[in-house]
Amino acid sequence: MMGAMKRRVKVFFSAIVAMLVLAEVVWTEDLPAPVLAPVAVPATAPVVSVVPAALPEVLEAIPPLGVVDPLRPYDSQRLYEDARTLARFYPEVLSLASIGQSALGNNIPLLKLGSGERHVLWVGAIHGREVMTCAFLLLIAEEYAHAYCNLAPYDAYSADKVHDLLDEFTVYFVPMANPDGVDIVTAEGPALVPIYSRETWKSNAGGVNLNRNFPFDWDSNSFDGFSNNYLSNKGLLPASEPETLALMALCEENAFEFLVSCHCSGRVLYWRDDKNGETPGDELLARTIAKLTGYAMLPSTKRALNGWAGGLENWFRDRYNRPAICLELGLFDTADAATAAQFHTAEMANWPVNKNLVWGVLESLSGSF
Ligand SMILES: [Zn+2]
Repeated sequence: MMGAMKRRVKVFFSAIVAMLVLAEVVWTEDLPAPVLAPVAVPATAPVVSVVPAALPEVLEAIPPLGVVDPLRPYDSQRLYEDARTLARFYPEVLSLASIGQSALGNNIPLLKLGSGERHVLWVGAIHGREVMTCAFLLLIAEEYAHAYCNLAPYDAYSADKVHDLLDEFTVYFVPMANPDGVDIVTAEGPALVPIYSRETWKSNAGGVNLNRNFPFDWDSNSFDGFSNNYLSNKGLLPASEPETLALMALCEENAFEFLVSCHCSGRVLYWRDDKNGETPGDELLARTIAKLTGYAMLPSTKRALNGWAGGLENWFRDRYNRPAICLELGLFDTADAATAAQFHTAEMANWPVNKNLVWGVLESLSGSF
């Protein structure tokens, strides 16, 4: 009986993902609003719409760095504006699309860096309060694209190496997987959901922790109420949230060799869970990232049940049998209001060291096919 129900649930989600894969998600001036799934949106929440920024003039020279300020906190509108500018500045190597829309109608931007046939995925800000991960990934996209277009080296990576890596790989960045949650944290004025402090909000606008909403061992997660909906609520159903479905569809249509989902708490990385066990290549990737960042690889036994159930990286391992890393880039994942602006910046993700992280991972995999 349970087996039949599980099969029906699996078929249902497979059908939804298949429909999403068929949908074209290229970003255009008047991007139509795809209807992804019904979600619970607070009745009083204002609709946050993306307003297209004015297009820069056609460029005759490669512009200097500085679109992304490592000390600038992001909300969904700033991300859109800067991502759009970057895509206009570096069309040879960087493009912008949307993977879908959030519960409040914000596009979820995708920046594609490089032109290689090997695809890898880096995700930021699946938790609203972890804004620094968005700034970090966006700054990487700008600096790497700038080096590529200038035929310039980047730190220890030669100009030839920069070109070779971005010709071999395409790096998919989803710098802000949860734009509504980020806006709750960083938007000026009253919080959309006033019960909780904006600075502590992890969930999406529907009060669901997206990193507990993926269809992987979802039933076993005990956080199933709305009493803690700013933090760890898993949602009414697996993959009930549009942001979850958008990420699933992106993964379904691209054979990503690995996924890194960026978080903030502890400067450590989670690389294997007890439910999935070993995934081919997981230890090699984890050791590479640990070496590049100086962060500790936490043993899987420390990843408690409620840590893996419904998680993006856990679902990815199960679905594709490929490595997926939860990378905690910062020391903490919350800041008090007095320091929030500084806390949300790329600098807090240990930028001086970690800015080479994506190069280093690509180099470790280069030529390994
Ligand atoms: Zn997190």
